[in-house]
Amino acid sequence: MILILHPDVTTESEPFLHLTGYLERLPGIQFRVHQVVGAQQTVTEVYLIGNTAALQAEDIRVLPGVERVVRVSREYRILGRHQGDTRPTFFEYNGVRFGQDNLHVFAGLCAVDTPEHVELMMRAVADQGLSCTRMGAYKPRTNPYSFQGHGKACLPYVFELAGKYGIRVVAMEITHESQVEEIRHALEETGHPTGVMLQIGTRNAQNFELLKSVGRQQEFPVLLKRGFGITLEESLNAAEYLASEGNRRVVFGLRGMKTNLGDPHRNLVDFAHVPVVKRLTRMPVCADPSHSVGSRDRAPDGVLDVFHVTAQAVIAGANMILVDFHPKPAAALVDGPQALLLSELPLFLEDVRIAREAYERRAALAASSPRAA
Ligand code: PEP
Ligand code: MN
Repeated sequence: MILILHPDVTTESEPFLHLTGYLERLPGIQFRVHQVVGAQQTVTEVYLIGNTAALQAEDIRVLPGVERVVRVSREYRILGRHQGDTRPTFFEYNGVRFGQDNLHVFAGLCAVDTPEHVELMMRAVADQGLSCTRMGAYKPRTNPYSFQGHGKACLPYVFELAGKYGIRVVAMEITHESQVEEIRHALEETGHPTGVMLQIGTRNAQNFELLKSVGRQQEFPVLLKRGFGITLEESLNAAEYLASEGNRRVVFGLRGMKTNLGDPHRNLVDFAHVPVVKRLTRMPVCADPSHSVGSRDRAPDGVLDVFHVTAQAVIAGANMILVDFHPKPAAALVDGPQALLLSELPLFLEDVRIAREAYERRAALAASSPRAA
């Protein structure tokens, strides 16, 4: 059960103290307090855990400071969409709004290799009017002898170049909690020229200690990739780990599932789950066509498979596209074979616009049509 308090109720106020005093005396019930800091106001929510079935929502709703009571019907208490739940389906970070109703393209390098390539990439992104990119500094590799990423050494120039080109959010995977501090430090040293969305990769989707520590910090939003060999429910629970520790600025990323049934793609594309995740949760949904497809193969219609699956995600309502580009794919240290060329970026974005427009028309059509029961 979630109690949403009136916006003017602070954790020091009389009604709050009265309310929590009352809750403390309820047998078999524990509670956690979450504060949702928005641009206009801070909303306080109280999560009741334990034998809430024994409580009457009406008895709780009349308590001091309570605006609304939401009965939680699913596992994902904080990030889930529950019946009668009107909590927001968006968040803001560094001036960029991430929501279930809009779309951002994060085109960038799978792995940072040289400052020259980073600059060429950032310039191409900025030339297209985009304000987000992806840049891998810490790379989880299957083979221990493969390039592991430049790590903290590349952060200063990545952040400075992002600032130079007006990039507001850089998606960057982390594989260990100590890297959050390295990112924080580099941002501070360079004067906060940009922002970072921490990415937790598919291999770490159930690294619960990493999830908990990233969830405890609230400075950076998080892109959590779906685990490639676990159920959707398990991955959504992984996202809930982040929120349960306090960070609810979470984007959920689909990136294909590991199964030979997906052959010849690198992973079985799972973008049919875009609307499912939007229905079950309030998280914006990201799709990664590059790590799903894993190649530059082209269909007989002349369209690259990466373009095709991107359009499939966007036409289904995806809110973020994370896609690998590289100025010289043959020289890329990681995932060159799937990278798109900088010259393909305008074409890619036009294709995304077509798919987004089609999605908006489809959603409008559905909204104007009578609903079957
Ligand atoms: C990536 O985005 O660079 C990456 C490694 O993705 P995934 O965790 O989905 O494999
Ligand atoms: Mn990659």
